Amino acid sequence: MSEPKHITVWNSCLNIISDIIVPQSFKTWFHPIKAVKLTGTVLTIEVPSNFFREYLEEHYIALIGKALKRVLGKEAKLEYNVRVISGEEPVVYPQQSGQELKNRSLPIPNRGNKISNPFVIPGLRQLEIDPQLNLNYQFSNFIEGECNRLARSAGLSIAENPGKGAFNPLFLYGGAGLGKTHLAQAIGIEVKNKFPEKIVLYVSANRFMTQYMDAITVQNKLTDFLHFYQMIDLLIIDDVHEFSGKAGTQNAFFHIFSHLHSTNKQLILTSDKAPVDLQDLEMRLLSRFKWGLLAELLPPDFDTKVKILQAKGYKDGIKLSTEVVEYIADRVNTNVRELEGTLISLLAHSTLTHKKIDLELAEGVIEKIVSKFTPEISVESIQQVVCDYFKIDCEKFSSASRKRELVQARQIAMYLSRNHTNDSLASIGSKIGGRDHTTVLYAYNTVCDLLDSDQTFRKFVGEIEEKLKIR
Ligand code: ADP
Ligand code: MG
Repeated sequence: MSEPKHITVWNSCLNIISDIIVPQSFKTWFHPIKAVKLTGTVLTIEVPSNFFREYLEEHYIALIGKALKRVLGKEAKLEYNVRVISGEEPVVYPQQSGQELKNRSLPIPNRGNKISNPFVIPGLRQLEIDPQLNLNYQFSNFIEGECNRLARSAGLSIAENPGKGAFNPLFLYGGAGLGKTHLAQAIGIEVKNKFPEKIVLYVSANRFMTQYMDAITVQNKLTDFLHFYQMIDLLIIDDVHEFSGKAGTQNAFFHIFSHLHSTNKQLILTSDKAPVDLQDLEMRLLSRFKWGLLAELLPPDFDTKVKILQAKGYKDGIKLSTEVVEYIADRVNTNVRELEGTLISLLAHSTLTHKKIDLELAEGVIEKIVSKFTPEISVESIQQVVCDYFKIDCEKFSSASRKRELVQARQIAMYLSRNHTNDSLASIGSKIGGRDHTTVLYAYNTVCDLLDSDQTFRKFVGEIEEKLKIR
């Protein structure tokens, strides 16, 4: 039996379209479409949801129109249905001869509380949403320090007045293990404590993405997905950098963001980079990320590390001497997660070997862990990283030139070498452009002064230090 005509016609259109657009978009936006009938030169297709229809209108309608005309001739017309749940009448939208469709605003069918989504707890009379919060992450155990002061106080202020203040969205960013998830969760918990009636939801960007992919491949689910997210009062999306390159997800998120923001609902986003450094994200999203407050989480300073270690030790019932705490704080320079990891290892060693936690045990454990975490840092690798960072030619860096930017780069390299290697001043001097030990000492003191007085300079040095650790 031969294929029905409408299928043949649509397949011919798909052949044309698939040659033009990238496979991922083709799969996402064209696989879910079904051709349903052909009447004369009018082809009717069915799309899974209104959102899907809007997306097609915005991006692909001209293309479909052209393909159809090529297959059926100049008179070709397209109509489409939005797939509906049984019991509702299908809505038909005619499309004029492949012309661009005007955006129509369509009444979205009201389906009451019958919203199917993975977070709704079934069996409850009122719609209840599990906020996916982890009670281990609270303000009470989030240690305050210079490194997180702005972010933390913005979080507290949001918890007082979600959606109403200036910090919307709150965009928390910083490297791994610096407390973004902890802080974002703490805000969620605090809001839920203060305003139990508010709908709070924590979701990782990855999970959001998977839900979106499920929603567009399963009939009628995309509208549910969008409706569901539009009901939230405080939406926390963790690790939004994961959206990069995912056009469909970004588009869906854009609609959700716009809806929530315009109805004074609070958004909290976390990312491993500042918006300016995020790649493959739509401009309209990046610019919205900056509407509220951008707050950076920095690696903890020595005092904060000490406080965190003391607090964690106390919670685990371990008594740590000041000597041990300071030793760990001094040696673990990456992030809070590694600080915790070190403490756990220490505890495990002490239990397994029946030794008490003292400096000797700490030294043994740190030697194994820190060397694993931190790549070997040498004067040479420091020079390399500094040159890369300032985009300086290595030869110029080692030359006798007294150009200001070269002098400053050398001084930073000397300062870092003194802090991160065991080389003597003389050895550092001879490796960095054949200078003597007094030059190195002078450089070291100059950099210390600048670090105290100049914020931009501090930022440069901090970033170079980060790069050294994650080579
Ligand atoms: P990120 O999301 O930035 O990668 P996390 O929020 O997962 O980092 O933090 C890593 C670990 O460090 C968590 O166990 C968290 O509880 C802990 N942590 C981070 N910052 C702090 C802090 N300021 N006080 C106490 N614990 C912290
Ligand atoms: Mg995280």
